[in-house]
Amino acid sequence: MTAVHVPGTPIIEDGRLVSTSPATGAEAGRLPVASVADVEATVARARAAAPWWAGLGFTGRRERLLRWRALLAKRIEELAELVHVEGGKPPADAIVEIVTAVEHVDWAARNARRVLGPRRVRSRLVLAEFSAHLEYQPHGVVGVIGPWNYPVFTPIGSVAYALAAGNTVVLKPSEYTPAVGQWLVDTFAEVVDEQPVFSAVHGLGDVGAALCRSGVDKVAFTGSTATGRKVMAACAESLTPVLIEAGGKDAMIVDADADLDAAADAAVWGSLTNAGQTCIGIERVYAVEPVFDAFVDKVVQRAGRLTVGADGADIGPITMPSQLDVIRRHIDDALARGGRAVLGGAEAVQPPYVRPTVLVDVPEDSAAVREETFGPTLTINRVRDADEAVTLANALPYGLGGSVFGRRRAVALARRLRSGMASVNSALTFAGMSTLPFGGVGDSGFGRIHGEDGLREFARAKAITRRRARSLLPAMTFDRTDADVARLVKVVKMMYGR
Ligand code: NDP
Repeated sequence: MTAVHVPGTPIIEDGRLVSTSPATGAEAGRLPVASVADVEATVARARAAAPWWAGLGFTGRRERLLRWRALLAKRIEELAELVHVEGGKPPADAIVEIVTAVEHVDWAARNARRVLGPRRVRSRLVLAEFSAHLEYQPHGVVGVIGPWNYPVFTPIGSVAYALAAGNTVVLKPSEYTPAVGQWLVDTFAEVVDEQPVFSAVHGLGDVGAALCRSGVDKVAFTGSTATGRKVMAACAESLTPVLIEAGGKDAMIVDADADLDAAADAAVWGSLTNAGQTCIGIERVYAVEPVFDAFVDKVVQRAGRLTVGADGADIGPITMPSQLDVIRRHIDDALARGGRAVLGGAEAVQPPYVRPTVLVDVPEDSAAVREETFGPTLTINRVRDADEAVTLANALPYGLGGSVFGRRRAVALARRLRSGMASVNSALTFAGMSTLPFGGVGDSGFGRIHGEDGLREFARAKAITRRRARSLLPAMTFDRTDADVARLVKVVKMMYGR
């Protein structure tokens, strides 16, 4: 490597995208950068492969997807090592991420026929002479644009469901984690070598933009809200439907009857796992007055024990070096405006690492409370009661996930959170529940991956009516008589006019 650069920042060298470890600077991957023509050619090949893949039917796709799942499971350590080297994620976190992804491949493969397959639906009395048939057909080619923070789990949340639904897929991995994206494509090709059903294009943001404009039939985007807006604008040009999984600023509510040890454990894990670089990470806690002090003590005790460093530590490096400035700004702003660091603080940012930082009494209008920090920091603010906690939790444009700790009212509070998902007495657990949909509201995006909704997201409903008898109440024909219309009026008054 000739260029001098900050470890972890990807560079382009001789037409290749080179990814490096944010901890050591060691090269992790070297992939060809796609031109606009390359993107178009890849999409054209995926389009040519689409009828073959769709034609395998649910059974054929299930069998192949389950073989891919087996391969991911068998080679989990190899993939975890690559995730660790390329993004800096601690190996144990990488294993947890991949396990969750494997679960989603399994569920999508096994449930696609039940959720999407042809079925008869009920006819209504006014059209009783027709039978009704519904099925969900694939869009064709789905473009998936992924972020770097969960380079396996996040793309697979779209890829597995899109493939199971019968689409072919072109993936644009983040420029920070292209080797992981390519690994997924290569292992899939070991199982499905007949056609380019799942392929990748590499490069910077412009390659993602080219994918949006390439004529794909749907784009599934996961990344920041700002880029999501650009993706949507590009897709608007061709009316390409789009799924947006964007950022978050998830809150945890700790109610008076919460198990404080369990709440502290979940708050620490939910905010600091993957060095806080988690879209559904807990970034804010609202703890009610009677338990506030005890809860903060328990969080500080637990978070203070965590190790920070490269191999084997609980908290690894910040994957995207430029994010260090954001984290530093949020901490400095919180402290300058009257917040207190009960752990970590201004000195916590030691590139490429950030030590766990817990901030209390942070003004609600400060950056640390309002903006996505994406670092191992947590604000804990005191509230009068759980109602105030809900109001503050819901005060931001983001609405991805959330968590509630408590007994009596916890589920009711979770339902009141303005978010797509919530965990009661745990944090982040909805992400691994393949039977549940995943996605946000507001600035966190729209559309759903995972679960039945996630399968339907990658298919379009096809409705068919079929005549099964002569019409007793002919209405949709010019052959109808005045008497037919009069009978129709009578029937509708009898059925609905009461
Ligand atoms: P970015 O928005 O920077 O990038 C996401 C992807 O979009 C990357 O592959 C990027 O490519 C690509 N891209 C960049 N510009 C364009 C463009 N103009 N058109 C099309 N594609 C483009 O996000 P990050 O990678 O930094 O990921 C972190 C963000 O992702 C956080 O906000 C996090 O909350 C969110 N996220 C949301 C999740 C969810 O499910 N809701 C899950 C995980 C993360 P390149 O990398 O080459 O710039």
